Amino acid sequence: MTFLDDAGLTLEALAAYAAGARAGEGRVIAQPPMAELARRLDLARLIADGGLTAERLARFLDLYLGASTRLQHPRYMAHQVAVPAEHGALAALIDGFTNNAMAIYEMGPAAATVEAVVLGWMLGKIGWRAAPLPGADTASNAGRDETAFAGGVLTHGGSLANLTALLAARARLAPDAWEHGTPRDLVVVATEASHYSISRAVAVLGLGARAVRNAPTDALGRLDAARLPAFLDALAREGKRPMAVVASACSTALGLYDPLSAIAAVCAARDVWLHVDGAHGASALVSPRLRRRLAGIEAAHSVIWDAHKMLRAPVISAAVMVRASSFLDAAFREEASYLFHDKDQPGIDFIHRTLECTKAALGLKVFFAIAGMGEAALAAGIERQTDLATEAAALIRARPDFEVAAEPETNIVCFRLDGPDALQLELRRRLTEDGRFYISSTEALGRRWLRLALMNPATTLTDIGALLTELQRLAGEM
Ligand SMILES: *Cc1c(COP(=O)(O)O)cnc(C)c1O
Repeated sequence: MTFLDDAGLTLEALAAYAAGARAGEGRVIAQPPMAELARRLDLARLIADGGLTAERLARFLDLYLGASTRLQHPRYMAHQVAVPAEHGALAALIDGFTNNAMAIYEMGPAAATVEAVVLGWMLGKIGWRAAPLPGADTASNAGRDETAFAGGVLTHGGSLANLTALLAARARLAPDAWEHGTPRDLVVVATEASHYSISRAVAVLGLGARAVRNAPTDALGRLDAARLPAFLDALAREGKRPMAVVASACSTALGLYDPLSAIAAVCAARDVWLHVDGAHGASALVSPRLRRRLAGIEAAHSVIWDAHKMLRAPVISAAVMVRASSFLDAAFREEASYLFHDKDQPGIDFIHRTLECTKAALGLKVFFAIAGMGEAALAAGIERQTDLATEAAALIRARPDFEVAAEPETNIVCFRLDGPDALQLELRRRLTEDGRFYISSTEALGRRWLRLALMNPATTLTDIGALLTELQRLAGEM
């Protein structure tokens, strides 16, 4: 058996897995106890003896795929992870083969170029301008002002991207912090609805998670820009300096956008760094119809944007982008910015902008996912999922005993059946145990909700109707 034979049978198994899931075969989710699964997959013996090839490989794949959560299944509505464009998976294979650890240009010129161009495309969607690629036009590049250009890097996920953006914010306010540590008077302003990776990042920065100060919000938990100035005044009286204001675009739980324009105006007036966490919702920038939800994003200082959520890329790839690229260069070391465009440097060494040293060709996965279908189809897909959420909310409201948390602004819908929080959790528990539907649950606005993240192009309103009927049936049993 040659490698190509094994590769062929692997691809066939994967294609059959995805096709079966898309056709709605099998359960979306099943969770056998881990010890049982380890035994069934015969992992310890395979590690000891090898032989994972041919017939043995086919058997392993059968078991492995059988115990995998089926994202391609139309009734997968749980988490904000893309049903990947299949071409994106090809990029993962190419990356695995070439193994170009592209954080320095010489270890992966093609991979680094793809990343730079993908980033340039994303920066352009925000309304920012990337520096010309090295070698593009050396004469006009000479002596230019680094802060005139935006810059970015792709990193392993939104959590790391948020940390990186906050490091850039710290580099602006406290340039000595890299050497001397984070000043104790810095705080980060974010709403309660902000993703937990924000408070993690603040804790990692050494400020302690309590340095996240909860900004005032409206009734739906969105940052209330009108009350932000008084809140910042109060912090100043306390002797605290805001390192950054964090806006969610959109929030994880409810999928709602903070009003970026109004927040940006407050931040600009006070010279406070505005960070926009667009991990999920920045993808709406691709849609001419939906991008108005992010109006004002161009006035932010930093933005993060996950490609493995709404851009259909396989996990994991997140862009961290900074309007004045010099601050991103300063996030991990000082005086780095000019190195990037040194005349002897034919490409970009992304290593200066990221926590990572060895880095995967993350841009290739994003590029393959998008370039397989093209930008227009990508935008149409995002619009379709958003419209589906709006229709789902109407369908849910039309049923007796159901309540919707907020009119959806994205592909996320939170709802609940009349009854206590414990009922929602028990419903989800029973639903997951059965495995024919897979949804998530979240806390927002002080209550527990059932939550749909409509990531799957194969999901229809019929699937959502069937889910509601099943929830009512389960509730009737309880
Ligand atoms: C998903 C998400 C994150 C975390 O991104 P990962 O890629 O999962 O690390 C951060 N912020 C928001 C708003 C998100 O939706």
